[in-house]
Amino acid sequence: MTIPLSSPDITEAEIEAVTAVLRTSRLSLGPQMEAFEDAIAEYIDTPHAIAVSSGTAGLHLCIKALGIGEGDEVIVPSFTFIAAANALRYERALPVFVDIDADSLNMSPASIEQAITPKTRAILVVHTFGRPAEMAAIMDIANRHHLFVIEDACEAIGATYQGRKAGSFGDAAVFAFYPNKQITTGEGGMVVTRRPELAAQIRALRNQGRYDSADWLQHAELGYNYRLSEINCALGFAQLKRIEPILQQREKVARRYQQALADINELVLPSTEIPGIRISWFVYVVRLNSDYTEIDRDSIVTTLTGAGIGCARYFAPIHLQPSYAAWRNSAVLPVTEAQASRTIALPFFNRITEEDIAQVGNALRTALLQIQNR
Ligand SMILES: *Cc1c(COP(=O)(O)O)cnc(C)c1O
Repeated sequence: MTIPLSSPDITEAEIEAVTAVLRTSRLSLGPQMEAFEDAIAEYIDTPHAIAVSSGTAGLHLCIKALGIGEGDEVIVPSFTFIAAANALRYERALPVFVDIDADSLNMSPASIEQAITPKTRAILVVHTFGRPAEMAAIMDIANRHHLFVIEDACEAIGATYQGRKAGSFGDAAVFAFYPNKQITTGEGGMVVTRRPELAAQIRALRNQGRYDSADWLQHAELGYNYRLSEINCALGFAQLKRIEPILQQREKVARRYQQALADINELVLPSTEIPGIRISWFVYVVRLNSDYTEIDRDSIVTTLTGAGIGCARYFAPIHLQPSYAAWRNSAVLPVTEAQASRTIALPFFNRITEEDIAQVGNALRTALLQIQNR
């Protein structure tokens, strides 16, 4: 790709932090993990943070530690990354997919309320593309129906809703640090929670079921190896020190895109100014305007990719994935299906240049013209 879809932003400071770990004899469960966890806890403003090997692992541990299991229903969007629903199925819980709001692309509180049954145990809220979900309404629904709230904040580190960080609302929340996220550890994730007993249990489950108080070979319950190495934690800690300039840079890139694409009528651009909300820009996703039904999204993606421009169909709904065939017919999600067929994620990363953005804009204009003239 001439312009990739995403690209990590690694400076000398991160390289030094990682190599410094390699000069020690402590490569797991050490001071870097503790520093990274403490820094995340402080940043999100939750008392507890537990580093894990991926966002998916973090979601799995939240489900398990909350006692959600066989036959329990959990409300979740289909318009998201498959990890959110997979984490439920690891514990034989049942994802109940609900529809999204066409503007925010987040779960609509009204759809959540309609999906509640006597078997519902939790709402797994995703802050899609770094835009916080309607947390006031969602927490209100959860409180009235005595449901757990798990925030999948894997795309939303640093986003705020009414002045509070995404990840500080629910019983627990998860962040992820795959290389396409705002900050990366290569692979990695973090669970945050206000509940001390939940934190202790997740900490134990991450490490083969060992509690801190017990000796090394005392396994209180069935756990996993979901640890995050010192090398990854050092990288994450160094990245987190730069989070504010990183988020500002990403806001700047989003605004530049907004200007560069403003004249393209065939596109609907994401909202950048939303009262009471700070978006943490994860990806920049445009949508084909529904007035132009003759334009095939997939041909645009193919044309752009052919021109060396990294782009993707974010997201293919989970209920339409082959591994969710059992859900395909029962899920009625018209907004999800309509929106998902029109989305295109464009190249988006800290160091993308103004020239790159202009080139993406021109490639889009050319592709749209070509397709309409066919
Ligand atoms: C990135 C992401 C995850 C976690 O992904 P991992 O690759 O397991 O770290 C989970 N949910 C959503 C919505 C994501 O975007």
